[in-house]
Amino acid sequence: MGRPLIAHYGAEWVELYNETTAGLQRLFATTGTVFVFVGSGTTCLDAGANALLKPGDTAIVGVNGFFGERLVAIAESYGARVVPVDAEWGTAFEPGAFAAALDAKPDAAAVLVVHNETSTGVLNPVEEIAATVRGRDVPLMVDAITSLGGERFVMDGWGIDIAVTASQKCLGAPPGLGAIAVSDRAWSLMEKRPPVGFMANLLVWRDYKEKWSDWHPFPATMAVGNVRALRRCVLRILEQGIDVRIEQHAGAARFVRERLRATGFDLPVGDAEASHAVTLVRCPPGQDSPDLIGWLKDKHGIQIANALGKFKDRCFRIGHMGEVGTKKETLEPLLAAIEQYGAGRAPA
Ligand SMILES: *Cc1c(COP(=O)(O)O)cnc(C)c1O
Repeated sequence: MGRPLIAHYGAEWVELYNETTAGLQRLFATTGTVFVFVGSGTTCLDAGANALLKPGDTAIVGVNGFFGERLVAIAESYGARVVPVDAEWGTAFEPGAFAAALDAKPDAAAVLVVHNETSTGVLNPVEEIAATVRGRDVPLMVDAITSLGGERFVMDGWGIDIAVTASQKCLGAPPGLGAIAVSDRAWSLMEKRPPVGFMANLLVWRDYKEKWSDWHPFPATMAVGNVRALRRCVLRILEQGIDVRIEQHAGAARFVRERLRATGFDLPVGDAEASHAVTLVRCPPGQDSPDLIGWLKDKHGIQIANALGKFKDRCFRIGHMGEVGTKKETLEPLLAAIEQYGAGRAPA
């Protein structure tokens, strides 16, 4: 990113951009179309909901955390009537609950679900949920923002129609870009019922990808430096091997969980449902997370996040994603500091 800027058009640039989208296709495990959006992951969720939902449609949306609630808000912003499939925050969905919701609303226009619920550190069983949706003539959109690159993800094999990720989570690139993968079925649905608007309208993106393919395959200026960085990170994962990178995330999650349990911290999410990318940790009785978070920042210069919803102030979250964030050397100083705090050496 520190190199002098190059133009966001022309043959050389198109090659670089296309290598990035081709690499992302392999990570999504899809032969569908992939676009890189300037904006964050949410921009792509917006485009995905716009592709599938119209005013008055029913959208079945999984809700077991903040990002599920966000999907509800996005679906409603396109006029959809949302039927939520709820699960307790801190637990994963029952795939059968989606089957029941579809039985009750067979004319639903789409099912929307978050793969890794970053607000609670729960990995939802998207493969099983996709299996209950498959064969029902309802498209499935998945927020894979903190799962792609950290968890197994098989878009075509599982039957996902739209999948979304962002540059800055498990892919380990700087923030500023989102990516969206689109199946053939999603394209035919859009042809029948076109999305609204311009920059979050996938038909506009497809149009430019086709008609300006040789020099500028997107509708507006690309964030050149960010795409270069993302390309580098995506190619690095592919060189390393996707499975190796996933195992690196799994290993980081195990490392964090074992160490914190040994220090006496409780982990509200069970091992079977735990995310590879983020861990929710409950403070011992008498301690609260804003105090720990403030102490870590002041004394150690390490910043971690509070929990959300019913876990706020009682729990905190540790992210362990990307090439650097999953390394033991990265996590060790944080865990050592938390151990020091947990041992009661923190100022009252
Ligand atoms: C971070 C995150 C988002 C939001 O992504 P942005 O890139 O900030 O727009 C959405 N969903 C999940 C699951 C996330 O972890």
